[in-house]
Amino acid sequence: MGDRNAPGAVQVVTTPDYEAMVIGAHPDDADFGTAATSALWAKQGKKVVWVVMTDGTEGGEVPSIPDTEFMLMREQEQRMAAEVLGVKQVEFLRFPDGHLTNSEAARKAIVKLIRKYRPRVVFTHDPSQHILAPDPNTEPNATAYLNHPDHRATGNIVLDAIFPAVGNPRAYRELLTEGLEPYRVHELYLFFSAQINTYVDVTETIDLKGKALECHVTQFGPDADMHTSIKTRAAEIAREAKEKMGLDMQYAEAFRRIKLHVPPAEPQEEAPTEMA
Ligand SMILES: [Zn+2]
Repeated sequence: MGDRNAPGAVQVVTTPDYEAMVIGAHPDDADFGTAATSALWAKQGKKVVWVVMTDGTEGGEVPSIPDTEFMLMREQEQRMAAEVLGVKQVEFLRFPDGHLTNSEAARKAIVKLIRKYRPRVVFTHDPSQHILAPDPNTEPNATAYLNHPDHRATGNIVLDAIFPAVGNPRAYRELLTEGLEPYRVHELYLFFSAQINTYVDVTETIDLKGKALECHVTQFGPDADMHTSIKTRAAEIAREAKEKMGLDMQYAEAFRRIKLHVPPAEPQEEAPTEMA
């Protein structure tokens, strides 16, 4: 970047306001990826904001429901889930579901929100996850999971917004007049990643994750039991944390953690497995 001491230079803010911003493609993605960690941090008094990129209007089996009606239903479900978790703020960007691209408009919307909330940590989809396919030679009856294009687009939009635009005084200069100063995000936590290096012990809040997911009635029906599947998965992740890092947890969420800014006072050497 340029000369910070040049006449008229605008300084980049490095002091966070919020602890975390979770950016998911659809209503329910943040729930699957980070609900228990969000609830844990909220319980610890940390400020957490969730952002939903799309309007969620393609997440259903009934073509006859009008888009606006469906969008509002899903937003309401997301607000209820956030309330269960203690997440105070939810922002809806309402880009068309199923058609999200890494566009100028999408990147700018994220730059604005990150500069507004100044989260220390940003959570989002790992954009490098695309094809999760078992080998048909060894597992002939298993099917693949093709990661949703909106998930990949969200990851790319967020990463491209964070670098360089969020912290660049010459990017989106019109935002400066709105008081949205350039800001440096400290850490990224990518969820649904193949390169996990961080486990969060969510034993305390795993039940809230199940409860939050059950708020998404348009997705799972009114009588869904999300607790069993969520706990099974979180227990598997905890076993993986034990095998890989010797950590003792009953239920865990897993992330690829990436450091982008280390405040000068913080020691440089830090264990990669530091919890919450
Ligand atoms: Zn999704």
